[in-house]
Amino acid sequence: MTSQSRQQPVADRSPLALKRRARKIARVLAETHPDARCELDFSTPFELAVATILSAQCTDQRVNATTPALFARYGDPTSMAAADRATLEELIRPTGFFRNKTTSLLGLSNALLADHDGELPRTMEELVKLPGIGRKTANVILGDAFGVPGITVDTHVARLSHRFGWTDETDPVKIERVLNELIKHPEWTMFSHRMIFHGRRVCHARKPACGACTVARWCPAVGTGPMDPDRAVALLKGPRVVELAEAAGIRA
Ligand code: SF4
Repeated sequence: MTSQSRQQPVADRSPLALKRRARKIARVLAETHPDARCELDFSTPFELAVATILSAQCTDQRVNATTPALFARYGDPTSMAAADRATLEELIRPTGFFRNKTTSLLGLSNALLADHDGELPRTMEELVKLPGIGRKTANVILGDAFGVPGITVDTHVARLSHRFGWTDETDPVKIERVLNELIKHPEWTMFSHRMIFHGRRVCHARKPACGACTVARWCPAVGTGPMDPDRAVALLKGPRVVELAEAAGIRA
């Protein structure tokens, strides 16, 4: 395998340099992950809210395997609010923490019926007042169900923000504020998805595939994972491993 030559990342951490580098990285991530999207299956804002609640401490794949039967039975706030608790618990048990999640789903459904005519509200302020909905979930709903740009700070977005040298903050709300400044407003939702895709497929927590990473030349943490192209490509994950390697300049 061969890899393209890599420049050293720019050391300049002035606000202007950080912003320029962040926007460059955002552009390259857009090219690297054209398939980036919300990986939770849903057909209504309510279903997305439910799926996002279920995704806490659980993979999207497992949530997607669970929700068809759940939505067939309780696909709107009216039916879910009237659900038998034990039946609901059993349906969502595979996603883990099912008792707490059941409490959130029942609370959310009842609150929507009581205060919002059974519809998800469209503002952050109203969403975060609902049971089970924190700022992260609210940003997912705003961005993916209502088209309102929002940055979702999950574990991947936080890790990559640290590696890119954008912030040392660990509080998701503070990280979100930093990213709000660095990234253009209309791109916030898709930028979040691309960061999450990069975190899942390339820049893993333990062994990032630095030698097969398209943004390595702008990343101060390059070298955290193997730089050898063969070892790095072996770390890539997902259905587009060949395309990801090629995008990084590596040919088999
Ligand atoms: S160079 Fe390494 S640490 Fe930096 S984004 Fe790529 S995989 Fe992650």
